[in-house]
Amino acid sequence: MEIIIQPTGLEASRIGARIIAKRIREKPDTVLGLATGSTPLLLYRELIRMHCEDGLDFRRVRTFNLDEYVGLPPGHAMSYHRFMREHLFDHINIPKKNIRIPNGLAKDIPAFCEKYEQEISRAGGIDIQVLGIGTDGHIGFNEPTSSLQSRTRIKTLDDPTREDNARFFKSIADVPHHCITMGIGTILESRTCLLFAFGKGKAAAVRDSIEGPMSGICPASALQWHRNAKFILDNAAATKLKKKPYYLRVFAGKPAWQRL
Ligand code: PGA
Repeated sequence: MEIIIQPTGLEASRIGARIIAKRIREKPDTVLGLATGSTPLLLYRELIRMHCEDGLDFRRVRTFNLDEYVGLPPGHAMSYHRFMREHLFDHINIPKKNIRIPNGLAKDIPAFCEKYEQEISRAGGIDIQVLGIGTDGHIGFNEPTSSLQSRTRIKTLDDPTREDNARFFKSIADVPHHCITMGIGTILESRTCLLFAFGKGKAAAVRDSIEGPMSGICPASALQWHRNAKFILDNAAATKLKKKPYYLRVFAGKPAWQRL
């Protein structure tokens, strides 16, 4: 794993955007796995800026979102369909047909989930998966004790997640109890994972993921098994890391060809 620590979320997000932009320029039909929540907002803003000012071309890019609430229609203000349109898709030149987001209204959820997995495979797999992390260590909506081999499926949201996300709804009673999420096994098959975490509220989950044992109780710790996972952190999210000086030294000492 690579641990990148930057003074602020903005600087961290710019590094992430540069990694994604480089990949898109090398492989115009890059397949991106995308996340929602407050963490990737700065990343999306920077990708939009690169599109508008530097001509970053999303015409052939394909995307698969990690998750969606069960029961929310795509037009619902709190749906992840709406989030993605508002914060990224409406501002770049990605064709609608290249976008996939789990359907929270699917009648047959298991069949929908199987099809979602097949579509990811048919697209050639995910090149870069963007991830946030929950205060309970979840990635996507894979809550603690998720199987480390899990695939796209329905999950029940745990209380800390519903409490964390209540800020986006009128009240906690409005936060759905169920979601559809890519599994940890699905995420582990992506070629590169970029996990972003900002703020001291994430510091314990970040520590457990990077320096704790790999365990379903902290789903993000599964990234220890990933072939190319980068944790891109601001300073506050890195405060509980025992080996922080080492991670900083690794980053500072990168040979020129490896710099981000
Ligand atoms: P946040 O959520 O970016 O809003 O903190 C992260 C997550 O739950 O994965």
